[in-house]
Amino acid sequence: MERAKKLFTINDIRCVAIALTDTCNMRCSYCPHSLPDAFPKRIREAHFPHDLYLKILDYLPNLSGLEYVDLTEFNEFFLTPELATFYLPALKERNVDYMIATNGSIYPDNISYYATHNPKCLIVGLQTITEKQYHDTLRIKCLSFDNYIERVSKLVRYFYNHCKDTLISIEVSYNASIILNKVIGRSYNKEIASLKEQRSNIRSLIRLISQKTGIELYEGESACRRNINQLILAHSSDDRIIFGGKRFVDLVNFYNRKLTNDSPVCFSETTVFMMNGDIKACCTDYKNMTVFANIIGTSMKDIFQRFVSLVNTMRTRGAPFECCKHCLGYETYREKYAKAVHSFIK
Ligand code: SF4
Ligand code: SF4
Repeated sequence: MERAKKLFTINDIRCVAIALTDTCNMRCSYCPHSLPDAFPKRIREAHFPHDLYLKILDYLPNLSGLEYVDLTEFNEFFLTPELATFYLPALKERNVDYMIATNGSIYPDNISYYATHNPKCLIVGLQTITEKQYHDTLRIKCLSFDNYIERVSKLVRYFYNHCKDTLISIEVSYNASIILNKVIGRSYNKEIASLKEQRSNIRSLIRLISQKTGIELYEGESACRRNINQLILAHSSDDRIIFGGKRFVDLVNFYNRKLTNDSPVCFSETTVFMMNGDIKACCTDYKNMTVFANIIGTSMKDIFQRFVSLVNTMRTRGAPFECCKHCLGYETYREKYAKAVHSFIK
């Protein structure tokens, strides 16, 4: 029970997320981007104001536990303009690590920049691993599955050959069993395959990507993972490329779920800076109902004090936002420790 009782402080913040752009070239059926009015408080296809970005970065040395900055949130990272000319060099100057999440279909401008400034992690959200899944979920209309895998392979090959400090995590979604979803009252997406089906298809995908990248990949566990709970399905011999399975979370229906808990305890430690200056406490909340401050006219010290106080409230008295009552992202104390015991035994 030690962790639950320990007070969260500014030194416990490990990641700060900044949504550099809100545009994406895909419209996956399970993503809020597929909804006509998903982002009511956002400015479409804009990018993060320079002055606000620098204001955040200049405060980061005060976060002694910070491991990296995450620059992706419901967007395609490589569609952000000025990545290699402004946003990433500003991080490099301050010696702050970053990670990239991409759908893998965009080959970046100025790709040679990444060889001089390696991301800590490149996450390729593949999710659809067969041609049928790809078309079922409408990932992108004008790009065939073969061409998509070709582009993913080209991107992976570049980062593997030029970014020795980068972990490349190719991630595929799977549905928890329909029975489990029914028991816990969670909605699911029938177009997402079960773990069993993903496992049975992973072999042919590995063969395809090995062939297109020229990097031999193997099925099975790896010594390396992006986080302790990640399920590893395959890896390269040196573990610099991993295929991780992640349980599908239905975000599209997030706000329509029946209430799951009147006072959810939440261990989320997310702080996301949005392009209009709003700061929210949850990365799954695409309607921005967990906004707790705005950067314009507020000092960074004040923002992080509010955030720390909010995390402590969410961990002890419960998440104060209305949308949290619909959420399965929170964990009760009992769930938290059951999970810790489970991963210890594993
Ligand atoms: S899931 Fe990712 S790739 Fe698909 S529409 Fe959403 S942000 Fe874009
Ligand atoms: S309870 Fe859910 S919606 Fe609320 S902050 Fe936690 S993870 Fe986000």
